[in-house]
Amino acid sequence: MAMPTDIAGNIAKVLSRIGQAAAQHSRDANDVTLMAVSKTHPAERVRAAAAAGIRHFGENYLQEALEKIIALEDLPLCWHFIGPVQSNKTRQIAEHFDWVHSVDRLKVAERLSAQRPAELPPLNICLQVNIDGEATKSGVRPAELPALARAVSHLPRLHLRGLMAIPRRCDAFEEQRHVFGRLRALADVLRDELALDTLSMGMSADLEAAVAEGATIVRIGSDIFGARALRSV
Ligand SMILES: *Cc1c(COP(=O)(O)O)cnc(C)c1O
Repeated sequence: MAMPTDIAGNIAKVLSRIGQAAAQHSRDANDVTLMAVSKTHPAERVRAAAAAGIRHFGENYLQEALEKIIALEDLPLCWHFIGPVQSNKTRQIAEHFDWVHSVDRLKVAERLSAQRPAELPPLNICLQVNIDGEATKSGVRPAELPALARAVSHLPRLHLRGLMAIPRRCDAFEEQRHVFGRLRALADVLRDELALDTLSMGMSADLEAAVAEGATIVRIGSDIFGARALRSV
């Protein structure tokens, strides 16, 4: 029988990696929020991570996420939608999430703004950038980012916070840094004009490089909850 995953121990290890990377790159570790990516893992594991101090959770699949959000309503959690957004799913996302990290077209942003319930605060938004060119189909192309960002910043029920990217997997630290540095440079150009404060970048395999390049939210799945079943990305 497999050993149960030590979620609290794993969280402590990830926090210590964030702390070390921050210290090495003259950053305050308090400026880096650890989001636990709980896709494919049941609500009880999310509860265990919450008991270990995690407040921010990321989910990719709407139906699965809604079940967990409802099951964990007694906890003060902050839910982040990080998967591809289909237009016909925007209403439920706008109603149940606090953040969406994966907005890459104006039509989706307009729907989220129109559908955000009046009694909730504006929905926090990161624009997903296709930082590798051809590697993935998701994400706005860098050349089209400024126009999209300005348009999204005018939508009344959204609060544009920053940029997100999912780079192609690569194991060399300097290469990881280079790609994250490109995302940071794109944010730098718009930061003052649009009051951006968020860089959502870094996963289990590249969180140190992301912290080195200014990540303010790292999205960690397998290094907290263990390996996922094959369906997931
Ligand atoms: C699954 C996922 C993660 C977490 O990836 P790990 O490698 O398991 O840490 C982070 N961000 C997004 C967008 C994801 O889909």
